[in-house]
Amino acid sequence: MEDCIFCKIVKGEIPSTKVYEDDQVLAFEDINPISKGHTLIIPKAHAENLWEISDEDLTAVHLASKKVSEAIKKALDSVGVATLQLNGRGVNQVVMHYHLHLVPRSGGAPELPITKWEIKPGDMDTIQQTGQQIAEAIR
Ligand code: 5GP
Ligand code: ZN
Repeated sequence: MEDCIFCKIVKGEIPSTKVYEDDQVLAFEDINPISKGHTLIIPKAHAENLWEISDEDLTAVHLASKKVSEAIKKALDSVGVATLQLNGRGVNQVVMHYHLHLVPRSGGAPELPITKWEIKPGDMDTIQQTGQQIAEAIR
């Protein structure tokens, strides 16, 4: 897609720090890293989000995430790697080309903001009703 930053990265029109590439996917370092080693994995074919990406590309991105996150752990001696993927401007997706964030935490580094949320028990009736609504929408 012409105006897409990540398509431009795939075509080499914008520079990137590539860490892995195969026929279907590309992995490169995020330019605004949440932590050292923050990496993005994208399909080479443009797809905006989880609902648009093909099953084959979705599988390829997530299989690559296993390989790349193992490499991140090894290279940076990480204590863990969080994966995050946003769909829609309503949840702050900024680049509208599917991408999976791999965000490692190195030993001794502060906790990642994206993995720190307040645990509060929910209302069981509401949880059950909502689950039922979703299950019915799948059928
Ligand atoms: P989103 O909020 O859409 O999930 O995140 C988009 C991510 O893409 C952000 O973390 C941002 O730093 C990263 N990003 C945006 N533009 C570029 C770019 O030109 N190059 C690289 N490497 N990363 C980018
Ligand atoms: Zn694109």
